[in-house]
Amino acid sequence: MSDKRLILLIEDDHAISNFICRALTANEYKPLAAFSGKEGLSLFFSHGPDLVLLDLGLPDLDGLEVLSQLRDLPREVPIIIISARDRESEKVRALDMGADDYVVKPFGVSELLARIRSTLRRADRLKISQGIQRDVYQVKDLTVNIAKHQVIQNGEEIHFTQNEFKILELLAIHAGKVLTYDFILEHVWGPYSGSSNQILRVNMANIRRKLKENPSAPNYIYTELGIGYRMLED
Ligand code: CA
Repeated sequence: MSDKRLILLIEDDHAISNFICRALTANEYKPLAAFSGKEGLSLFFSHGPDLVLLDLGLPDLDGLEVLSQLRDLPREVPIIIISARDRESEKVRALDMGADDYVVKPFGVSELLARIRSTLRRADRLKISQGIQRDVYQVKDLTVNIAKHQVIQNGEEIHFTQNEFKILELLAIHAGKVLTYDFILEHVWGPYSGSSNQILRVNMANIRRKLKENPSAPNYIYTELGIGYRMLED
């Protein structure tokens, strides 16, 4: 029996679809190609893939509609958006609707494969822990200890305000995944706080200053322009 991971690709452009399928096959994945939203949903139900690659510009259904139908299901399958649209609002909407990651066309094979590996790893980790949260996250010389509410960098404890720590904690728990501004604001300041991005930017600037982080060459936290932040995976 083959233990290859099954990846459903929903993409109407045949050239791109062939290119991705060849890359997946060459890297020990089993690709399954759908060329419309409806075909994608039908193959999803018949084959139960391990991961979905979803194009947003489809001929029949909007990709976001497909995403919302997949996210309404009890079975949580990781979804990576592949999109030619580089409009920030679309990416943010897709992430807020539960997509795990996105790549923007044109992308290289190695970038796509890296995103797939990281997303599958995260999904496996979540499955194994079954909701049990880890206590300690480590990125390079930085340790975020959630149980102890403690951040250690290079052997030295760094002090953060409560909200700064909450942001770090959130990024650490979701390490490798881009978190949108709204997601972070809602989790740190509450759903009805009406907070603006400005308060988040100020807190992030303080966090980076305390970590001696250079935003243009970060060690731990990457800015996804116009979208949010992503912490490096350990
Ligand atoms: Ca398309």
